[in-house]
Amino acid sequence: MGPLKQPPLSGHSSVSNFDTFYIIKRVSDTNENFSNVSPFLVEKAITGSVGNVSSTKLMRSGDLLVEVASRKQAQQILTVNFLSTIPVIIKPPDTLNTSKGVITCGRLLNLSNDEITLELRGQGVKDVRRIDIRRNGELLPKKHFILTFNTPRLPEYIKAGYVRCTVRPYIPNPLRCFKCQRVGHSKTNCRGTLTCARCAVAGHESTGCTAVEKCVNSQGQHTSFSRSCPKWKVEKEIVATKFKNNVSFPEARRIVKAQSAPAGGSYSSVVEKSHPAYQTTHCPHCHHIVTISNPIPSTSKSADTVQNGIHI
Ligand SMILES: [Zn+2]
Ligand SMILES: [Zn+2]
Ligand SMILES: [Zn+2]
Repeated sequence: MGPLKQPPLSGHSSVSNFDTFYIIKRVSDTNENFSNVSPFLVEKAITGSVGNVSSTKLMRSGDLLVEVASRKQAQQILTVNFLSTIPVIIKPPDTLNTSKGVITCGRLLNLSNDEITLELRGQGVKDVRRIDIRRNGELLPKKHFILTFNTPRLPEYIKAGYVRCTVRPYIPNPLRCFKCQRVGHSKTNCRGTLTCARCAVAGHESTGCTAVEKCVNSQGQHTSFSRSCPKWKVEKEIVATKFKNNVSFPEARRIVKAQSAPAGGSYSSVVEKSHPAYQTTHCPHCHHIVTISNPIPSTSKSADTVQNGIHI
């Protein structure tokens, strides 16, 4: 198998050729993290080790997410083993070093995921999942496959035996919490209160609620799960930006904000323009709704994706 062609980078954002984000994890037998460590101490220790970084954030996990400002810092930070006296492990997030793509191939319909993974290993594929749809309790296998590659860039295509399959970026939908209804996290990580998805009032479920529709996220007159919610559309754009450009969530958020803020246009108009064609289906494994960007010719043939980014 010859080397795969590198697809062109999509979008307008520049992608650095060194890792800009790093996760600092505390080495601790008792699962201690950084949530109780003085921010003064953290800031001084980071600056003392590598100089002034672009940003430092505490993630939900209690780990720190650091964005470095230069290639030099990127090299330096990997040699750091202690923040002050706290032992740490520092590495770039895995999700920024792998990528996920979708292929559609009817020839693979009857093969197991394991067999496909094994056969495609030589082309950098480390995992294969399938998008199936359950209708009336019956599983309808679809010929869409989600491939995880062990590289941050997607190849333009893979060869499944004699079949050439175009690889498109895999773009999941944003997370929406089924408890507090807010976007950006899931029920398992929720620190909010139970809120009605229909009327946005706290303390009851939406089942049986007949109150006037109100959205928790935008305060608009629609349910919190409405796909026409402007907040949802912004989140969708952030996720698409993240996955297409292979950047972290904070960076994607920044890019989307920068694109949409000055022109006076609404967030949603930006979304419509840049991502006209999506196809939505259900992932049977995680019950996540999955959006697949349609195979659009030439100009939109963007490619670079990552998955399960860092929600902070
Ligand atoms: Zn929540
Ligand atoms: Zn309600
Ligand atoms: Zn809304």
